[in-house]
Amino acid sequence: ASLDPGTRRLVERRTRLLGPSYRLFYGTPVELVRARGVQAWDAAGNEYLDAYNNVVSVGHGHPRVVEAIHRQLETLCTHTRYLHEGILDYAERLLPTFGGRLAEEGHLMLTCTGSEANELALRIAKHRTGRSGVIVTSEAYHGNTELTAGISPSMGEFSPLGVWTRRVPTPDSYRLPPEGLGAWLAEHTARQIEDLERRGEGLAAFVVDSLFSSDGVYAEPRTLLGPVADVVRRAGGLFVADEVQCGFGRSGERLWGFQRHGLDPDIVTMGKPMGNGYPVAGIAVVDEVVQRFGQDMRYFNTFGGNTVAVAAARATFDVIEDEGLVANSERVGRYLRERLGTLAARDERLGDVRGAGLYVGVEIVRTRDGKEPDKETASAIVNGLRDRRVLISATGLHGNVLKIRPPLVFREEHAERLVEELDAVLQAV
Ligand code: PMP
Repeated sequence: ASLDPGTRRLVERRTRLLGPSYRLFYGTPVELVRARGVQAWDAAGNEYLDAYNNVVSVGHGHPRVVEAIHRQLETLCTHTRYLHEGILDYAERLLPTFGGRLAEEGHLMLTCTGSEANELALRIAKHRTGRSGVIVTSEAYHGNTELTAGISPSMGEFSPLGVWTRRVPTPDSYRLPPEGLGAWLAEHTARQIEDLERRGEGLAAFVVDSLFSSDGVYAEPRTLLGPVADVVRRAGGLFVADEVQCGFGRSGERLWGFQRHGLDPDIVTMGKPMGNGYPVAGIAVVDEVVQRFGQDMRYFNTFGGNTVAVAAARATFDVIEDEGLVANSERVGRYLRERLGTLAARDERLGDVRGAGLYVGVEIVRTRDGKEPDKETASAIVNGLRDRRVLISATGLHGNVLKIRPPLVFREEHAERLVEELDAVLQAV
């Protein structure tokens, strides 16, 4: 793309200083300098609608979270080797929200990133079961550490998977018959478990994001993961719900994505929106699952669970409750999918509109009947929207699923603007 000289200089400087491993969004990269709520501004003062950033889940720069971080940083910043009520108050409020065994006898362990949370979950699962097998979905992403990159096939063919990592196919509800999809996925899971057992290893854990974010956003059917969890449990493996993306109200009706499938996970991992931008992540784990691990070794994480991180998490949680953001996610998400559905009814390139709450996927295809993924058009739409100052992205194996995942303070008028701009882009593409 022909960039203006200022942008080109910035891109070149970035490549020189940060090296080759980073990627930028959009043909014409955006330099954001400031944001509030669901709006952001670039260096030239242009305003954007943010329909993508799920970390700042209660809105960019939410004053209550900013104030809580500021006040705590000024008062005390220490780690988990001192007594402090903040983390206990937070755990007392968070653990009951999971229901099931986690509500009754769960523990909260805090980290700084989702990767670390999944890394810790894997270590606990391996220690608990004495086995190393881990099953994930075909295009999963679970993190950037050695262990978690090893269970993240979406990193691509050059990023090695763990020796004992096994994959089950994406439950593509758009192309496969939705009835029986749960039994189908359970059958694939059972086959992978058999393979692990035949090789003398066996299953430690099944790790899954219940909205299948990097597989291409699949929210239905809700009967999908129940049969899988049964198969996993029968094999003595742990069920790990990766809520890093789908947690904290993202999926609408409930706080947690796994609850849409009626599950009772052994471990829940969370991160991203937990501190509305302040790095705080962690796991909830059933007591009996972590007992041996805790007796045999200690866990310490300098920044994980520090008093400031906890203040950020508590304030974020308060805002989610006080502003009714789970209900807002459900209502506005439904409205957005309806409006997108109207566009899809008259444009066969929009093959499927799906999702839950404010996590919406729109599958871009060549023809309605053939359902052939169309990455080029998806990319043109993402870039066209960027040029009209609406920020989204694309995901899935073929990169042809528009990924719309705004802060949870997104309202109907924002959905309206997004749809209007998308309509205009579709006419031009
Ligand atoms: N799990 C899922 C489902 C994720 O989407 C991500 C981040 N994209 C991670 C784990 C890793 O989180 P982090 O980048 O905070 O390490």
